[in-house]
Amino acid sequence: MLSYQHIYHAGNLADVQKHALLCVMLAYMGKKSKPFSYLETHSGRGLYHLDAPEAVKTGEAAAGIGVAEAWFDADHPFRRALDEVKNRYGATAYGGSPLLAAACLRAGDRMHLAELHPQENAALNESMFGVKNGVISKVYKQDGFAMAQAVCPPEPRRGLMLIDPSYEIKKDYKTLPDFIAKIHRKWNVGVIALWYPVLTDGSHEDMVKALKAKDFPKTLCHEVRFPPAREGHRMVGSGMFIANAPYGLDTECHRLDGFFNSLR
Ligand code: SAM
Repeated sequence: MLSYQHIYHAGNLADVQKHALLCVMLAYMGKKSKPFSYLETHSGRGLYHLDAPEAVKTGEAAAGIGVAEAWFDADHPFRRALDEVKNRYGATAYGGSPLLAAACLRAGDRMHLAELHPQENAALNESMFGVKNGVISKVYKQDGFAMAQAVCPPEPRRGLMLIDPSYEIKKDYKTLPDFIAKIHRKWNVGVIALWYPVLTDGSHEDMVKALKAKDFPKTLCHEVRFPPAREGHRMVGSGMFIANAPYGLDTECHRLDGFFNSLR
């Protein structure tokens, strides 16, 4: 039984790292005129309103995108995507990864979005309905790992997959390196991006070691640290492990380090 709901955490500092890198990667991929595919295994509901009681209660968005937004120039791909979501849904709207990705995609690009939780899935369907002319999106109410196995290699073959589990199921830490290796074997040109939390008890560390030990091409592992959302909260940072990382992404990682270092 899944209980995680991203509305409590949408727009937090982990989202800032994940969504900024995601938008930069998609903007880079959009420089070539040929269409590409976007796959997401754990999509969430797509659209969040940061004045919702759940978001206000944790204060994570206020300490996250509330602080970070002004740090991104108006022409930064993340800022452009955030603005597109606000223009469409109002000033308190915050795009989850599916909506931010849609903002970065072009007519002819394709999206495959999995979300297992029934309510989150229904909300995702609503968020994605007619979201952007010409972007073809399909929402799956199924396990995201199974969806990815079934769809890969996608058509168009060029593309990016975001894997953003809530890690409610602890075995995900163990199974993810082999899962990514399996996907990479089926889809060797795909950019595969995994988000993970940096935890005080180090539960993520063996997974990161296992990922680094695999023979993936052009890997990038970017970790940032930030103050915990509440005293005693286990998450003190976040990471992105990327295989087939687009050219120049390390420059964006350095820029993001500047923002996260300013919080210390
Ligand atoms: N990627 C989203 C974003 O950045 O806006 C946030 C996703 S949230 C961290 C993780 C989501 O995965 C939750 O909505 C949860 O219901 C969903 N989920 C959990 N296990 C899943 C599975 N096996 N397959 C698909 N979705 C799953």
